[in-house]
Amino acid sequence: MSKSKTIYFDSNATTSVAPEVVQAMLPYLTENWGNPSSPYRLGKKLVGPIEAARESVAALIGADSAEVIFTSCGTESINTAITSCLYSQPTKRHIVTTAVEHSATKNCCAALEERGYEVTYLPVNRDGSLDLKLFEQSLRPETAVVSMMWANNETGVLFPIREIAAICRQRGILIHTDAVQVPGKLKLDVNELGVDLLSLSAHKLHGPKGVGLLYVRKGTPFRALIVGGHQEEGHRGGTENVPYMVAFGRAAELAHAVTVQSQRKLAALRDNLESEIFAKIPHTARNGAKEPRLPNTTSIAFAGVEAEALLMMLDQLNICASSGSACTTGSVAPSHVLTAMGLSPVEARSTIRFSLDYETSEEDVAYLMSHLPRVVAELRAAASPRVAARFRNSKLVAQAV
Ligand code: PLP
Repeated sequence: MSKSKTIYFDSNATTSVAPEVVQAMLPYLTENWGNPSSPYRLGKKLVGPIEAARESVAALIGADSAEVIFTSCGTESINTAITSCLYSQPTKRHIVTTAVEHSATKNCCAALEERGYEVTYLPVNRDGSLDLKLFEQSLRPETAVVSMMWANNETGVLFPIREIAAICRQRGILIHTDAVQVPGKLKLDVNELGVDLLSLSAHKLHGPKGVGLLYVRKGTPFRALIVGGHQEEGHRGGTENVPYMVAFGRAAELAHAVTVQSQRKLAALRDNLESEIFAKIPHTARNGAKEPRLPNTTSIAFAGVEAEALLMMLDQLNICASSGSACTTGSVAPSHVLTAMGLSPVEARSTIRFSLDYETSEEDVAYLMSHLPRVVAELRAAASPRVAARFRNSKLVAQAV
């Protein structure tokens, strides 16, 4: 395989923009550049394409298009969901979330705590799963919203959102889920799931960065976060980003067309990568449950290896992977997701996430595996005797799958 090709194992960070998506949006950057709120045709003719895009994203999640609000990204969608639930129920000042959420939720909750709201961060166990009993015990009469991710971006582990939503409904508590990592990888139907609010982001499904959506079930109380013009039925002010809405619509159609068969193929490729790693590289272990999880993600701890150094060496070979979520990469702090699962900071810092995509081929996996064992061995050999001893005695040896 040519070294000049980028071998991409970081689809949970972002995905390439599909050529069909670029084609769909281009006319809205060139000839169709009007403002949809204008009274003349140059603007008015954009209302149809926006609504068609809304229909497409709604179809992807089994919603009615009137239940979909376009936002500028997943982060805005999540912030809007949580604050809307609080501001529309002013007597309820408690939020339930988990210790392993994306920073969009984590930092939104932290900011709300500074403003006097109370947040319960539910712990997870070593395989990244939740204790449902503990969850039920955390609910209070003053709980305004439960906000939990469906699929963890670092480990791929899935939370039982359907069960969680059923409990919330029984107790009359609003339930929001961050489903940003889900489209195209699992079937997504808001009615089957039973959630009140759900967040997505286009760039995880071969759309552009900078556009997301918030699903709000009909009848759910709502307060806008971004106030301004009457756009999005007053639910989100700001002149519409027509090209990106259209692009999201097309990306949603492509994600909707993904078959169960290709999802299984993706899981098989990921499983194959995992088995190869465990077979060829000693002292490695998967972080998080084998099932249920996304079909494309694996998080692996390589004992005795600094993940950042490994990533740099892989980059020299044109291989992209991640040591955690993109938003926290660059900081030296170990991943809050992995430490919440009980990994030590050293183990967390030795972890690499490989996230595959429908574009990932068997050749890509073979190319990665033709280099990874050597690179890991070189890094281990170069490690200080203290680090080397630590990994020889690491618990990971016993846990290796
Ligand atoms: N939630 C999860 C699980 C994510 O993986 C991401 C992106 O990495 C986000 C939320 C934020 O989405 P965006 O980048 O569109 O703000």
